[in-house]
Amino acid sequence: MSIEQNATLLEAAHLTKEFRTAHGVVHAVSDVSLTIQRGETLALVGESGCGKSTLGRLLLRLIEPTSGTVVMDGTEVTALKREELRKFRRKMQLIFQDPYSSIDPRMTIRKIIAEPLKAFSVPKKEQEAIILDLVEKTGIRPEYLERYPHQFSGGQRQRVGIARALALNPELVVCDEPVSALDVSIQAQTLNLLHDLQQKMGLTYLFISHDLAVVNYISDRVCVMFLGKICELGPKEQIYFHPRHPYTKFLLSATPEPDPRKRKEDQDLLMGDLPSPVNPPSGCRFRTQCPYARELCAAEEPGLREVDGRQCACHFPLV
Ligand code: SF4
Repeated sequence: MSIEQNATLLEAAHLTKEFRTAHGVVHAVSDVSLTIQRGETLALVGESGCGKSTLGRLLLRLIEPTSGTVVMDGTEVTALKREELRKFRRKMQLIFQDPYSSIDPRMTIRKIIAEPLKAFSVPKKEQEAIILDLVEKTGIRPEYLERYPHQFSGGQRQRVGIARALALNPELVVCDEPVSALDVSIQAQTLNLLHDLQQKMGLTYLFISHDLAVVNYISDRVCVMFLGKICELGPKEQIYFHPRHPYTKFLLSATPEPDPRKRKEDQDLLMGDLPSPVNPPSGCRFRTQCPYARELCAAEEPGLREVDGRQCACHFPLV
């Protein structure tokens, strides 16, 4: 983390996103408030469909919230007009899981990295210097700049995706499952690269992942989501070694563990099927699966509150 790690870079308040579908209203993100500190890596974890990618896109305003606000660097992102937002976007970028999806396969690597620079009218001479600096920082050989994405491996393509995301020298980078499509050995290289770049460029990351082993490697704080809500948010060590929310405990039980019997016991605790985001349970959204649920859990929604050095949304936190 950078020395400025305690300054808040981004603050989201009561963010909500609902999608209307043929089956009803999907409550993708419900009343989420969080801050991201300058220079830190905040990991957003949860199972598929918990709303973590939607939340990442809401923070960048790549999708419009149903309600709630996002303030970054003193600017209310959610209030910006179209052109103001376009200009502000250079401060916040997204790295995708599959860089191929965000890259035009007919463009050379040089053009792909230069595209955002062109969009912001960076003079041609400066563009060249920035591109050479980025390829050096991301470990792309300069002679590869005239090649095409299909000539690259998955790991190399992700390096191109990272170089492109950093071209405008952003402050906040949302990394959405950036290594989950890569082989394990390439995952480690890419995570090391992201870490080095954070140190060199003073970047702040929101790191979205379903993989707690990856998150453990790269994060400073961890935010656990279940069905559009935050369950637990705090320093990585607290979340990993002393989870207080039953869902966090379950999620950790699904990661590789030296004593598989122990993890299996925790997995077996889970009851019922995953509830639907179209019709979430009353009270605590985890209650239909939670082995510790009591009457109060159905009657009253647990708010996030300070528990033992982290925030936890549970009426009966684990001890
Ligand atoms: Fe389980 Fe109740 Fe806590 Fe929800 S509030 S996680 S149902 S104990």
